[in-house]
Amino acid sequence: MSACQDVYDILLKKFQEKYGRKPEVVAYAPGRVEILGNHTDYNEGYVLSAAINFGTYFAVASREGLESRLCAGDVMEEVSFNADQPSATKDHMWSNYVKGVLAGINAIQKPTHGFDAMFLGNIPLGSGLSSSAALEVAAGLAFSKLYGVVLSNLELARIGQKAEHDFAGVKCGLLDQFSSINGKKGSLVWSDFRTYDVKPVTIGEDVCFLMCNTNARHALVDGAYNERRQRCEQAAAFFATRLDHKVAALRDVSWEEWLKYHGEMDPITAKRSAHPIGEDERVLSGIEMLRNNNLAGFGRLMFESHDSSRNYFENSCPELDTLVDGAQAIPGVLGARLSGGGFGGSVVVMVNKTDVEAASVALRNVYANKHGSRCDTRIITCSDGARVVIG
Ligand code: ADP
Ligand code: MG
Repeated sequence: MSACQDVYDILLKKFQEKYGRKPEVVAYAPGRVEILGNHTDYNEGYVLSAAINFGTYFAVASREGLESRLCAGDVMEEVSFNADQPSATKDHMWSNYVKGVLAGINAIQKPTHGFDAMFLGNIPLGSGLSSSAALEVAAGLAFSKLYGVVLSNLELARIGQKAEHDFAGVKCGLLDQFSSINGKKGSLVWSDFRTYDVKPVTIGEDVCFLMCNTNARHALVDGAYNERRQRCEQAAAFFATRLDHKVAALRDVSWEEWLKYHGEMDPITAKRSAHPIGEDERVLSGIEMLRNNNLAGFGRLMFESHDSSRNYFENSCPELDTLVDGAQAIPGVLGARLSGGGFGGSVVVMVNKTDVEAASVALRNVYANKHGSRCDTRIITCSDGARVVIG
């Protein structure tokens, strides 16, 4: 049985009904979860993430001429356009992710024929599990196979990223696509955002993760995000004037160096820079701990990561803190932290597999008691990355 078999079966049935034939190519791509390494990507640092057990299937068959049809399988909405001229639209936002990917493939090789395509997934949209990257990666794999375009993993990831930038208007990094492409069952994905190296790190199958979506989103997110980025750049420029070695980004500054010099910096810039610097070190220690099968130690690093978000980067909020504080007292929980940009969104909790159902109920209760509203929890297992299923 392949991942999300029910979704796959429904998609094939819907495709056959709508287009009167079977797809030639079907590709699958999972969503992702950030486990450790927060706001490190644009500081050229490290992230540990995982591909998840929820994903998107993209099915496609060739069609004569360039006119093409693209259908979102859940709502059965369809758009038509010429395969050689994909352009962004305002009315069917979902189509932009796919059109953007197609534009990336067209830039390598112009299409000589069109297609009929349909996609379907089970990742909750907009909940921090990156349904958009899953859609891009699945579409990218399917189109590259259909049109005979050979792509490296990095090229595929970049095509997805460019689709987000140019067609969806989201300035994302490469983490989401990297994780979706390079996931491995029972492993985390270790990405290096300077070299773009990606390696699996075994975590085993005794633990899993709970993704708890608070559904909270605080105002000024974009402004706060830009401020954090600027502070990181200012801090890197400061350290470049103090350290003997080259500092191109905060990745080049150690925690020891931060301790030694932070008093000479503007206090806010000092605080902000502590977060990505500390996170890089936590990712490296975390990898060591996983190599020694020290899951408890790894969990403690997740709690430390959240403290750092709360105190230094100030990208947490009361809703996220409720879950992380509450998680500390729940049996079987090893660690918890905010996952993603922050200022709302989701908390990721590492928990022993045997305790996960009870922990999920307990976390929802903690949240409801404090905030009077629901938080959605989802059991996440580290899963294999994207692949072509048919074709
Ligand atoms: P996230 O990536 O965190 O889920 P985004 O806002 O980046 O949130 O992307 C969500 C958008 O991606 C949706 O609003 C929709 O336009 C598109 N999308 C992704 N997957 C699907 C899908 N399976 N069906 C329809 N739209 C999808
Ligand atoms: Mg997204």
